[in-house]
Amino acid sequence: MHDLAAQLARVMGEGEVFTDDLTLVSSAADGSCYRKIPQIVLKPSGEERVVEALRLLHQHQTPVTFRAAGTSLSGQSVSDSVLLQARGDQWNHCEVLENGKFIRTGPGITGARLNQILAPYGRKFGPDPASVNSAMVGGIVANNASGMSCGVHANSYATIESARIIFADGTLLDTADPGSRKAFREKHTGLLETMVMLRDRIRLKPGLTARIREKYSIKNTTGYGLNSLIDYGDPFDIILHLMVGSEGTLGFLSEATFRTVPVKPFRASSLIYFRDLGSACQAVPLLREAGVPAIEIMDREALRSVEESAGVPPYIKDFDKGVTALLIDLEEETKEALKQLILTTEKALSGFDLVREFEVTVDPKQISAYWNVRKGVFPAVGGMRKPGTSVIIEDIAIHASQLTESVLEMREMLDELGYADAVIYGHVLDGNLHFIFSQDFHNPEEVKQYETMIGRLTTMVVEKYNGSLKAEHGTGLNMAPFVEFEWGKELYRVMREIKSAFDPTGILNPDVIITDDPRLHLKHFKPMPVVDESVDRCIECGFCEVNCLTTGYTLSARQRIVVRREIKMLAESGKDRRKIQGLRKAFTYQGDGSCAGDGLCAVSCPLSIDTGDLIKHMREARNKERGWGRHMARWASNHMITLHRAVELGLGSMQLAGKLLPVKRFLFWDRHMPRPVRKRASIQSGNLSSDLNVVYFPSCINQSMGTSVKDPQKMPLMQATIEVLEKAGYSVILPAGMRSLCCGTPWESKGFSNIADSMSERLEKALLEASEEGKYPVLCDTSPCIYRMKRVLTKRLTLYEPVEFIHDHLLDKLDLHRTAKEIAFHVTCSSTKMELREKFERVARACTDHPRFPEEVGCCGFAGDKGMTDPALNGWALRNLAPEVKGLDAGYSNSRTCEIGLSRNSGIDYKSVIYLVHQSIRKG
Ligand SMILES: Cc1cc2nc3c(=O)[nH]c(=O)nc-3n(C[C@H](O)[C@H](O)[C@H](O)COP(=O)(O)OP(=O)(O)OC[C@H]3O[C@@H](n4cnc5c(N)ncnc54)[C@H](O)[C@@H]3O)c2cc1C
Ligand code: SF4
Ligand code: SF4
Repeated sequence: MHDLAAQLARVMGEGEVFTDDLTLVSSAADGSCYRKIPQIVLKPSGEERVVEALRLLHQHQTPVTFRAAGTSLSGQSVSDSVLLQARGDQWNHCEVLENGKFIRTGPGITGARLNQILAPYGRKFGPDPASVNSAMVGGIVANNASGMSCGVHANSYATIESARIIFADGTLLDTADPGSRKAFREKHTGLLETMVMLRDRIRLKPGLTARIREKYSIKNTTGYGLNSLIDYGDPFDIILHLMVGSEGTLGFLSEATFRTVPVKPFRASSLIYFRDLGSACQAVPLLREAGVPAIEIMDREALRSVEESAGVPPYIKDFDKGVTALLIDLEEETKEALKQLILTTEKALSGFDLVREFEVTVDPKQISAYWNVRKGVFPAVGGMRKPGTSVIIEDIAIHASQLTESVLEMREMLDELGYADAVIYGHVLDGNLHFIFSQDFHNPEEVKQYETMIGRLTTMVVEKYNGSLKAEHGTGLNMAPFVEFEWGKELYRVMREIKSAFDPTGILNPDVIITDDPRLHLKHFKPMPVVDESVDRCIECGFCEVNCLTTGYTLSARQRIVVRREIKMLAESGKDRRKIQGLRKAFTYQGDGSCAGDGLCAVSCPLSIDTGDLIKHMREARNKERGWGRHMARWASNHMITLHRAVELGLGSMQLAGKLLPVKRFLFWDRHMPRPVRKRASIQSGNLSSDLNVVYFPSCINQSMGTSVKDPQKMPLMQATIEVLEKAGYSVILPAGMRSLCCGTPWESKGFSNIADSMSERLEKALLEASEEGKYPVLCDTSPCIYRMKRVLTKRLTLYEPVEFIHDHLLDKLDLHRTAKEIAFHVTCSSTKMELREKFERVARACTDHPRFPEEVGCCGFAGDKGMTDPALNGWALRNLAPEVKGLDAGYSNSRTCEIGLSRNSGIDYKSVIYLVHQSIRKG
């Protein structure tokens, strides 16, 4: 493989081929219970590079697996050979066509992003897997993923229009381009002829055609999409549609164009509770007849798994055994039509003895809470499992007429085989049912138990109900041994012929879909060693990666966990010390040093796992070993005033040097760095006679750092804040001794949690005193500081982040002038975690007609002081900022250090949003 890697590097470029242990190990996991460590990882920068790579791999007959977001559940995006990952900036292009009716996209963009882009056109991307926030087009198409409402009418198969496909030998076909089709026809006559031959062979046998039609009347992702051979006559159309659901075994998709679907603007949802599983299933056909477009089932165990989740009605806890919920979605073009649909739905339910009265909500927040609860079932079960076990999800589909009988039989089977706590839920409108349980694959008895269950399940689904073994998650390694069983010898042979025609040397994702190994589903199980309680529940689903700023730069949050687990396993086995050392060394920066500790990973993690905590725990352990570091940190915490002076002196000297020297930048200084706060003596509150009191705690950073050197605004933030508060009629109380106060965030992020805690205790005391034991609200001007304060300070204090205070208490008291100028805003990670985005937008709209919140920018990566010592990380995190704010001349946020990085990487000055409010107050 070494030689091959070198050759690949020659044709692709050094930076696109990886063979180091850290990259290989960290790329081992997808969202399934399987794992394989690749020998080479490729991260091609574009289509041409994939062509070159496949040509070479084809020559060497070396297997390759493609990966987009790696959230697959059946083991189809893992490889022990070459893994080719297509995500990131080069793969997320997208173009809206014909006023939103169509969209052309790269494979590395998430479904959710497409929906955001299409929203202004009143359209959406058809496929709607629950993983849509993370799953990417390449994976969505290749798995024919679907969800709660797309059924079989709006999935990738139904909505794909054309694609650019790279075949196993590196040939590129653009199915929309006649020239490309012509060239392909000349080179790949055999493949086209095989498609025609298979099409005709099937069409000549009405029995086969009928069987295929029947199987695709419900969701099915077991094997290849044979409906392509009966729905389409043109071999290019057949190829295009066979690509859907081919799980990277037929070719690489470098671009695709889809028909989009309209969004119906009026929406309602209802959670309907039935006395038992059977009656819930019996209601499904009646609801379908009433026109309900989406129905999800959650059995008693599923409801139990989410009863603590936000948005779940509290009474669920008291339900009897057997109570089952149907979550329905109602969508219409007009308000009247929605009203009518609600009435018809209610009528359909009239014969049922419901546990609670039928209630409908039209509140968008409640609707999204209900659906998030439903999306949270799988992760919730994953989170409750015993450490060291894997979470398994089965994914079958049954014809509507047999729904009740099959669900009851399935429940019985699970109870009988020792899976009494397994959860049943799913897209029941489409007969698509999931059941989830945990299993310890390192215990041979449990492997046997799993084998027995799979045996019983496959027999039941295929022989008794003629259902699908995989409805939407793809065949993967998990169901490959059962494809023939489901489809029968003749149609399975057709699938094998398809595979050989597309990929004669069998290099594309071998063993996925087509395998000779009847026990494949019992191999390659993912080990789940216990490493740190902050991350032990992790199911390696990858949902955190979209939010983790270091995804694609160093390691993502998931990869940090995967690598820690591997190190732990290797250490326990006592084997391969050299590999452990290498991994540890590489982890030092890629895992630890580059982690910003912002915790945004927890926001998209279905289990709210903050991988930053794992890193902080590691830092803490290291600090314990290094006495001098702890002493310095302790000294600094006790000498805050000296620190302030040092910072001010340093900033002042650098500013002076900047004026004198003919350079714009030296060391970490540039003209975006803050000027020191000097005229502190003049900062004081004047009005102390109001009935409205507020305690204002300026963060230690804002006590020393002013606006940036090149910003004409020289007023320190403390002064601007006091003036705004007083203008709104507040008396401002500054805590005594505030120069020596700090919330402890800088210490916490560096792994000195004890010191951080003693700092926050001191702060708590001062704030209690200033607020007369919590009588007055407390405002802190820095978002990350208030985030920690809200977590660790006493609940007697009512704490406010700046945007939150402006929104809740100042907007109604201030007369603001709204500018017509377009202005940029940045929502910090801490504000995001405190769910303040909406309030931020409202504050922004109170000050400007045109607020711009760049969509492609998440955590800024400045991370306290990291932006000074590691500007490259900051630059990476903000690589998309400059184009998004081009032409604007002002930016606002709510954390001074983040603002330094934002200014540096955009060219416009960012400062606190309090300044914007200050300047928007009408004079007079
Ligand atoms: C919590 C959770 C919930 C989920 N819910 C659903 C659900 O409701 N419905 C559903 O259908 N799925 C669901 N999934 C499964 C998974 O998220 C989807 O199947 C998703 O579409 C996979 O997309 P991905 O980007 O992660 O693809 P990957 O996992 O990276 O890849 C999927 C397949 O596509 C192939 N592939 C990737 N890129 C390309 C390319 N450019 N060209 C050709 N082949 C390619 C890979 O080789 C692989 O076989 C869920 C997963 C999780 C963890
Ligand atoms: S940390 Fe959370 S989101 Fe990330 S892989 Fe683990 S479970 Fe999934
Ligand atoms: S804390 Fe930030 S950088 Fe660290 S793993 Fe989480 S999202 Fe990634």
